[in-house]
Amino acid sequence: MVSLIKRIPRSPAQGLFINYLMEIKAFKKRIENLDRKYLWHPFTQMQEWADENPVIITGGRGSFLKDISGKWYLDGVSSIWVTVHGHGKKEIDNAIKDQIGKISHSTLLGLTHPLAAVLAEMLVEITPKGLSRVFYSDNGSTAVEIGLKMAFQYWQHKGKKQKTKFLSLRNAYHGDTIGAVSVGGIDIFQKIFAPMLFKSFHAPSPYCYRCEFHRKYPSCDFLCLMKMEDILKKHGEKIAGLIIEPLVQGAAGMITSPPGYLKGVSRLCRKYNVLMIADEVATGFGRTGKMFACEHENVSPDILCLAKGVTGGYLPLAATLATDKIFRTFLGKYKDLKTFFHGHTYTGNQLACAAAVANLDLFRKEKTIGKMQKKIEILKRELDKTADFPHVGDIRQRGLMVGIELVKDKKTGEPYAIKEKIGSNVCHKAREKGLIIRPLGNVIVMMPPLSISFEELKCLAGITAGAIGEVTGL
Ligand SMILES: *Cc1c(COP(=O)(O)O)cnc(C)c1O
Repeated sequence: MVSLIKRIPRSPAQGLFINYLMEIKAFKKRIENLDRKYLWHPFTQMQEWADENPVIITGGRGSFLKDISGKWYLDGVSSIWVTVHGHGKKEIDNAIKDQIGKISHSTLLGLTHPLAAVLAEMLVEITPKGLSRVFYSDNGSTAVEIGLKMAFQYWQHKGKKQKTKFLSLRNAYHGDTIGAVSVGGIDIFQKIFAPMLFKSFHAPSPYCYRCEFHRKYPSCDFLCLMKMEDILKKHGEKIAGLIIEPLVQGAAGMITSPPGYLKGVSRLCRKYNVLMIADEVATGFGRTGKMFACEHENVSPDILCLAKGVTGGYLPLAATLATDKIFRTFLGKYKDLKTFFHGHTYTGNQLACAAAVANLDLFRKEKTIGKMQKKIEILKRELDKTADFPHVGDIRQRGLMVGIELVKDKKTGEPYAIKEKIGSNVCHKAREKGLIIRPLGNVIVMMPPLSISFEELKCLAGITAGAIGEVTGL
């Protein structure tokens, strides 16, 4: 193993250039073989993967990724929605290196450390008001599990023992663990697991382009919210919490809710005494143009789930924030057994916290959010150019989160069949042109790092448009 790593060809200076190229080629082949032989990739049909030429990433700078052959690609999805200030950001690199010099990990079970405490204060300061306690874990799914369990246990402490169910939205995605899938609403992800899941209530998705009631916003008068209210009216007594991705249902294909929807949901939660759990794993840390999506509609959830961008895209870290009202009900003597019996081994990892503190410092120092408006407008202007492509059905943008829904028939909105793999084909075409983007079904997703430049944004939109045009025809 060690010998293999040592044999990574370093630079042409070590030998003749031709030898170097041959070494690279052999090394690439070796990695491809190891990958095919031993790896099992996430959300990937491995039989088809075996026929692919995998891109092997060995470096990254700013908005770009470099592959093993030295080819550079624009990272159009922030390495799956995590990179914030770019790859190889000096301040975050150094924060992690400095911390490695001290200690890389210690536990939060019975011990604490400065970075966990400092980061907790920073998170409380920047998140919507009312949230005052920070519980760490290491990925978005666990942040959600923790939120669900906290909400559940809260009502047990309050003596409302019948409040054990959850309400979520159709098309929701909250992660891949069993609890998170139970409140998910994407059929193809959960169907097979249905017998393993707990039952929850599902309200309509604010998917205006394919409104289940065939209404149009705003004349619909938020019929989807009325349906949600019907569920709460009928079952509210049994419902502990409502979980929602504020403003953008990401994994469903960047489904953006119309203005006022989120506020409406928050009002319903108050009215029916149901805790509001905001899953800002994707939307948090600036993606929508504000630090958190909830800010757009001045909503303060009872519980907030964070992950993805919290470390600037460097290391796995997540946080679940709760209000004082919730936290206080967990207080008592140990023998009362009101403790929150939950924790993960790497909870509050020191290196991850160091990266997160540096990430948040950068938001302040570089005025990252303030610089976004212009970028959002440029991206919108560029995307508008594809609006009349014959197979672009809907372009959805919230901040720097974008979904372009491709359709077989623009007039009727008839979708492409799964087997046409249209999204995947467009993304492969984009990759040939030096851009990494990912499809979600027939939706082309873009979510560039917040640090992306104006020029790079234009490339992102331009290459994507070119790929869509070539694959779907103009
Ligand atoms: C990605 C995501 C999750 C799951 O996070 P993981 O770190 O992949 O477990 C949960 N909720 C939302 C909204 C997400 O986008």
